[in-house]
Amino acid sequence: MSICYIALGSNLEDPFAQANRAIIALQQSPQSKVIDVSPFYRSKPLGPQDQNDYLNAVIKIYTDLSPIALLDELQTIEKSQGRIRKENRWGARTLDLDILLFDNLIINSERLTIPHYHMKHREFVLYPLFDIEPQLILPDNEKLLDLVSKCAKNGLTKWHE
Ligand code: ATP
Ligand code: CA
Ligand code: CA
Repeated sequence: MSICYIALGSNLEDPFAQANRAIIALQQSPQSKVIDVSPFYRSKPLGPQDQNDYLNAVIKIYTDLSPIALLDELQTIEKSQGRIRKENRWGARTLDLDILLFDNLIINSERLTIPHYHMKHREFVLYPLFDIEPQLILPDNEKLLDLVSKCAKNGLTKWHE
C-alpha cells in the first residue's frame, strides 16, 4: 500500500459538483481509499486569463495501484467527467487530477513526473496540501512548511458555494 496526494482542479460546468463527483469516484475505486480531503480553494487561472477561476483541492489516498495505473485511473475519471484535451495547455477544464507525491518515489518517465514538476511553487497546491499534512517532508527532504512560507497566496481564497 502506498500513500499518495492528488491535486484536483476544475473551472468549468459547476466546479463544486465536479470536485465532489471526482472524490466519490476515487472513493469507489476498489484499489484506493480516500483518507482526507482538503478544504476547497479558489484561485486565478495559470496561462490564459479569459477563463473562470479554479476550484482547487488536495486529496490524500492509500492505494494498491502502481503510479502509472493510478494515472490511468485518474485520466479515466477526468474523461468520464467530460475533460476534453485541447492543444493549449492550462486551458479551461471540467476536471484535472494530478499526482503530486507517491510515497517517497522520484519518477521521471514519459508519462509521469513525481513529485509533480511545479508543485513547489503553486500556491493552490501547497496551501491545501499543508491543510491536511502540515508535517509533510518531500522526497528531497524539503519541509512543506518551508515551501508554504515562501509561497505568496496570489489571491488564493477559500471556495464558498
Ligand atoms: P500541468 O501539468 O502544468 O499541471 P495540466 O495538468 O493541464 O498541466 P495535462 O494536460 O492534464 O496537463 O497533462 C499532461 C500530461 O502530464 C498527462 O498526459 C500526463 O502523462 C503528464 N504527467 C506527468 N506527470 C504527471 C503527474 N504527476 N500527474 C498527472 N499527470 C502527469
Ligand atoms: Ca495540472
Ligand atoms: Ca493534469
